[in-house]
Amino acid sequence: MTYTNFTIETDADGIAVVTWDMPGKSMNVFTAEVLEELDAILKATVADAAIKGVVFTSGKSSFSGGADLTMIRGMFSMLQEATAQDPATSKQKLFEVAGQMTWLFRAIETNGKPWVSAINGTCMGGALELSLACHGRVVANSKSVKLALPEVKVGIFPGAGGTQRVSRLTDAQSALQMMTTGQTLTPQRAKAMGLVHQVVEPDQLVTAAKQMIKDGLKPVAPWDEKGFKAPGGGVWTPQAAQLFPAAPAILRRETAGNYPGALAILKCVYEGLQLPFDTALKVEQRYFTQILGTTEAFSMIRSLFISMQELGKGARRPAGVPKSEFKKVGVVGAGFMGASIAYVTAAAGIPVVLIDQSQEAADKGKAVSEKLVSDSVAKGRLTKEEGEKLLSLVTATPDYSTLADADLVIEAVFEDRNVKKAVTEAVEAVIPETTIFASNTSTLPISGLAENSKRPDQFVGVHFFSPVEKMMLTEVILGEKTGDRALAVALDFVGKIKKTPIVVNDTRGFFVNRCVFRYINEAYDMLAEGVPAAMIENAAKMAGMPVGPLSLNDEVAVDLSQKIMKASIADLGPNSVKPEHMALIDNMVDVLDRRGRKNGKGFYDYPAKPAKKSLWPGLKEFYPQKPAGDVDVSVLKQRFLVTIALEAARTVEEGIVTDPREADVGSILGFGFAPYTGGTLSYIDGMGVKTFVELAEKLAAQYGSHFKPTQLLKDMAAKGETFYGRFDPYAKVSQAA
Ligand code: NAD
Repeated sequence: MTYTNFTIETDADGIAVVTWDMPGKSMNVFTAEVLEELDAILKATVADAAIKGVVFTSGKSSFSGGADLTMIRGMFSMLQEATAQDPATSKQKLFEVAGQMTWLFRAIETNGKPWVSAINGTCMGGALELSLACHGRVVANSKSVKLALPEVKVGIFPGAGGTQRVSRLTDAQSALQMMTTGQTLTPQRAKAMGLVHQVVEPDQLVTAAKQMIKDGLKPVAPWDEKGFKAPGGGVWTPQAAQLFPAAPAILRRETAGNYPGALAILKCVYEGLQLPFDTALKVEQRYFTQILGTTEAFSMIRSLFISMQELGKGARRPAGVPKSEFKKVGVVGAGFMGASIAYVTAAAGIPVVLIDQSQEAADKGKAVSEKLVSDSVAKGRLTKEEGEKLLSLVTATPDYSTLADADLVIEAVFEDRNVKKAVTEAVEAVIPETTIFASNTSTLPISGLAENSKRPDQFVGVHFFSPVEKMMLTEVILGEKTGDRALAVALDFVGKIKKTPIVVNDTRGFFVNRCVFRYINEAYDMLAEGVPAAMIENAAKMAGMPVGPLSLNDEVAVDLSQKIMKASIADLGPNSVKPEHMALIDNMVDVLDRRGRKNGKGFYDYPAKPAKKSLWPGLKEFYPQKPAGDVDVSVLKQRFLVTIALEAARTVEEGIVTDPREADVGSILGFGFAPYTGGTLSYIDGMGVKTFVELAEKLAAQYGSHFKPTQLLKDMAAKGETFYGRFDPYAKVSQAA
């Protein structure tokens, strides 16, 4: 029998090597067809008396990335359709679908012949769960091999037996830690935890896997043997008595109760360890069904899995423009941002010229790459040779003529219109007609800067976030005249350096900073109301924000806020900034010289390490403090999320953001907007626009007109619409097709 996604070769010893190699895909993933074929292979190998055992491996450089986008999307549409037809039976249908992989893997585990998974490359999610159901696991000893059950990061959990097998192979604490954080394991760590049997050199992988079978590997999982005891002894031991009562509290500290998927892992492990294996799998299947039905899982999978991949693959790229090749990229301005942009470019294997006003300034910029490389070499992330190769791609120079053969030039010079004008002219004097020019400005409108260019259709904004080497998002800003080729080149470049792009029309603050200012402004309002600063910071974190607003303000610099507020007043008039906000920030900067982390004092004090930063006590003297008991933390949490979500909705209403996926992904990757919501617009859709409008009106009555819902929202509420319905990103695709 032949299969589309697998090949089978049986050797003279009766060992069948099943190789997973999906045609036309760079990575193996689980699809309905893959599951069907795997089931058929299992049945065929069981039926064939000549086959003594199975080695399961991959024909690609990685093993498998786990579930497929379309399969997951299919599961949600199935749930929606089934619920619409008959809500009473929809859960049962979902339960059956959710158990498909569980019971197929269990059938492999109990088939009577030994299966060994030969893990040649990265093995994630369902693929690791399949491997755990095999009787033996051999992993290639290579830096590129990573093993993980990362489902919790997209709102679900390992629901194909993962929670039960991991907690029966390793101690409960390590199991919980691995699955509730979705952490990535090296082959060595996986072996030390007891999750795999052998780590061998890559060219020995299949041989070693076959040898396990030849050596008489028993086709029985440890938990199917009589008298099996989980490592650590299950839940009725002194260690477990310390672990399990504390675990929910620790999880709550880390997640503020916002991630039902993470809590379900605790429940599955605790309950499952007390049950026979098949019953435990059923318990896991029940929790998995429950979690799949949560708004959190739906929204997180959509934004953090599906949309992120779609945007990364160029969902917004204009069709018809040939894929860009980058033989050379120029970066002008070797300061804080330019130096790091040059580094990420070279790290993607692209030669880069880093230009500044003098050789010395350019060299200083290259030194940033040297430091990052030496840190990576020290941590074993890069070999010395890889580090040297990366650095050889960065040429530091003050000489603009080196840009003559650049495909793309990015300017990151001072945030000053005149300096940027001079640089644009100097660059355009040497680059060929075809080169695209990008500005990394954070506040100046792209259309205005493009007026300095002789070819505004080739002028685009590419807005990076700091620290560039860590932040995964880049905003691509379209000026009025930016053409399709400039957009395509910018998106190709962002993809090449492995960041996720969002495409935003020109506006003050673009998308991310507009939202971030709302977040920080809400904190200024709370301070002025006398809410204790510690409550402001903690409430924001409980709402799911990674960094409190005052801490964030210190990171971006308080004097930068002052500069931006003053620029707003100059450009948009005195009403554009609340007087009490301006007074607070003027006081912080001009009177107290509290500029943020960079000068060691801002809303926090920054003592010398190892002491930790702490909120500046002087803040209490600014405003009469409310007693903590008079502050409703749940309202503080709502205010943060609602004010940001409202701003995101405004950007949609103004046509700045045109695709809801971009507002969602941009808000999570750009400033960590409560990931469990799926992002700013999913937050609104998740509770329903009507409920959101009512909430916003309630907050507006008490905390100010900035909470007033916009016309678009009121209109959508009246019609019962959602952002993903009204601005359906896929409708455009099908119309264009
Ligand atoms: P910076 O002051 O650290 O660096 C600017 C560099 O440009 C300096 O090294 C300077 O010598 C160089 N320069 C000035 N005039 C030049 C010229 N004529 N030719 C060549 N080099 C010249 O500033 P930065 O923080 O890196 O910001 C650069 C740009 O990036 C600004 O437009 C800023 O708005 C934007 N940006 C900054 C951040 C941030 O977090 N700092 C984030 C996103 C975008």
